Amino acid sequence: MSEVKQGYKGHSLELLDKYKVRVWGEVEVKTTRGDFKGILLPRSENDDENHIVLKLITGYNVGIAVDTVLNMNECGYKEAHYKIPEKEFPISANKPNIKLFGTGGTIASRLDYRTGAVIPAFSPGELYGAVPELADICNLKTEKLFAVFSENMGPQQYIELAKSIGKEIENDIDGIVIGHGTDTMHHTAAALAFMVQDSPVPIVMVGSQRSSDRPSSDAALNLIHATKAAAESDIAEIVVCMFGPTSDKYGLLHQATRVRKMHSSYRSTFRTIGDIPLAMIDRERITPLSDNYSKRRPDKKVTIKPYFEEKIALLYYYPNMQPDVVNSLIDSGYKGIVIAGTGLGHVNKAVYSSIERAQKEGVAIYMTVQTLWGYVHMFVYDTGRDLMAKGIVPLENMLPEVAYIKLGWALGQTSDLDKVKEIMLTPICSEITEREPYNGYLVFQGGVPEVENFLRTIHK
Ligand code: ASP
Repeated sequence: MSEVKQGYKGHSLELLDKYKVRVWGEVEVKTTRGDFKGILLPRSENDDENHIVLKLITGYNVGIAVDTVLNMNECGYKEAHYKIPEKEFPISANKPNIKLFGTGGTIASRLDYRTGAVIPAFSPGELYGAVPELADICNLKTEKLFAVFSENMGPQQYIELAKSIGKEIENDIDGIVIGHGTDTMHHTAAALAFMVQDSPVPIVMVGSQRSSDRPSSDAALNLIHATKAAAESDIAEIVVCMFGPTSDKYGLLHQATRVRKMHSSYRSTFRTIGDIPLAMIDRERITPLSDNYSKRRPDKKVTIKPYFEEKIALLYYYPNMQPDVVNSLIDSGYKGIVIAGTGLGHVNKAVYSSIERAQKEGVAIYMTVQTLWGYVHMFVYDTGRDLMAKGIVPLENMLPEVAYIKLGWALGQTSDLDKVKEIMLTPICSEITEREPYNGYLVFQGGVPEVENFLRTIHK
């Protein structure tokens, strides 16, 4: 077998040898596409031989094709030690017992020397080594359930997670934290809101937008906030805990069925939609913003409803959509479809025939709105009335992703479409609300100066 050095082989290894640069060296690279400066990272054993990878000063990694390189120069060298020192987590009798489930994602992850990839570090010792403040808050037990990026979370993982949460609650835990990738955290939050009902303790989902090897990482602070919320708050529901404003001033606790990732890279990416967040949190205190939540209880009872029908789809309507899109779902045996329609809940006339067919063939079909804020109103225009006549059921102000998850959960319990409709329209955890407060849309969204001023008036 040909030589492999820290993941580099073939053309990429020849390049490193030619310019005498080393992995972990600080290198300047001239290419046909511009100049780059950064740390030369090791590569995964499975990567190709045609690229090198630099960690830029911004913290981002960039892959550079070998055949674009004109010159390389090593101007510094400092071997990185990303191993987090293990320290024994101190246990104290008067602190709450918290369980942290790891599912993967960027949170509490570190750069793995062997593969050059970011991998999760989840033992209590590693977490304590990285974030010692956690020991001031609680006694922490950890368990890695999965190690996936959140695009790979799905019904099987939701069910396993819900069952694991049930067991912990019965075993007398005071609060639960779930480390999760941010990309689909709101889908998992919604799934847990339906699968784990009447929890007596807080269940706090947390992630990070920037991994812990980057200076601007939000991993540690989010973890501190989430652990504090699980240990001390009286919100016995599934919530998402992430940065509020773009700065690290405070975190927000968002209700599971009203939260959504709204920015691809900001740390303050999560927003409550259609309502206001439940609370603000910083290292010192938790400041409630709403009292619309289930309160902590001393009993250990919880109802786990681990059901999910996987043959369901979420269709994002676009102009000129054709009926074959819906028809192909029916042909493939899909049992339920949620549409995110335009405006008040509309699709074009071209799609009507396929909706009629879905209705005739017993496919459950529901409407939500792409605007995210506001309600489906299908009585206002002909389009809405026509669609309802063809069997589409409007879902009030349920968010499209939440409706998708709830439909999977409902169809997992029954194939009787009247019962499914009853489940869909009966709110379980604020997925449908009577009204959306105007201050939810205009304020309480973090980081806006007017909001900061307003918050100062209640947060003296
Ligand atoms: N792609 C990652 C995930 O969702 C991003 C993150 O962890 O925040 O798992």
